[in-house]
Amino acid sequence: MKAMVLETPRTPLRLLEVPTPSPSAGEVLVQVAACGVCRTDLHVVDGDLKHPKLPVIPGHEIVGRVWGLGTGVTQFNIGQRVGIPWLGSTCGTCRYCQTGHENLCDTPGFTGYQLDGGYAEYAVADVRYCFPISGAEPDAEVAPWLCAGLIGHRSLRLAGDAETIGIYGFGAAAHLVTQTAQYHGRRVYAFTRPGDRKAQEFALSLGCAWAGGSDERPPAQLDAAILFAPVGSLVPTALRAVRKGGTVVLGGIHMSDIPAFPYEIIWGERVVRSVANLTRNDALEFLQLAPTVPVRSHIVTVPLAEANLALDRLRQGELTGAAVLIP
Ligand SMILES: [Zn+2]
Ligand SMILES: [Zn+2]
Repeated sequence: MKAMVLETPRTPLRLLEVPTPSPSAGEVLVQVAACGVCRTDLHVVDGDLKHPKLPVIPGHEIVGRVWGLGTGVTQFNIGQRVGIPWLGSTCGTCRYCQTGHENLCDTPGFTGYQLDGGYAEYAVADVRYCFPISGAEPDAEVAPWLCAGLIGHRSLRLAGDAETIGIYGFGAAAHLVTQTAQYHGRRVYAFTRPGDRKAQEFALSLGCAWAGGSDERPPAQLDAAILFAPVGSLVPTALRAVRKGGTVVLGGIHMSDIPAFPYEIIWGERVVRSVANLTRNDALEFLQLAPTVPVRSHIVTVPLAEANLALDRLRQGELTGAAVLIP
């Protein structure tokens, strides 16, 4: 099969012909129809996330059809549409797995990082971490749900019972969570790179109450803020924008250093917290909610062989919505 392979961090992916994997017991082989490009892929490729399996096929927003069944697999049928997310395996026995916090598992396996992912024509996955995708939404539009959607959903939940929510970094995750937040009657304030009128117009077109640069103060005090931009200096900025008791949720897996800030801006029981990975329950919840809203993904499709181009455009902040690779 053809795959885009990371051989060494901080070098471009290479288009290679590699053996099509065969499913072991408890696994499915999936023919990839679409794979979203997530900022986490960029962190793997750029070496921000340490110790990837090498070589590794990135990609953890996979939508495809079951092509082969490992022994013992009865949950899925050949031809069934499935989604494969970031969480690829957990130990099931550590204190986190045993208490419903499998997103914090001590020895997890992540798709496209420790396990080969979806920048390829085929991928294998443990059936316990795959999800059936019913409905008529096109494959490429469902792909961003598998990480941007799930992480956005978890971030929104951890933001608490907020009526006004600021979102810093208006990319793939933000544009999806904006839709579910508004569905639940919340008002969304979108913060983009200063001067990025295109992203601000995109946010307003999705119904945001306000859109501006991350250097601007919102017109209303925020009950909570979610940061998807991996920019540590935005943490004190967001703290200054949230009310007493408000939460600042850090939705990314990697962030530049957070600068020192005066105690008074976190005083008043403001909370800063990160969001790590996802649980399978998050996925089940979101995949049920998304078609109800309905959540619409704004995507640009890119041929698999041009994955480096898609990653570059994400790195430069040139994407509106999400890029999706099509094998
Ligand atoms: Zn565990
Ligand atoms: Zn992701």
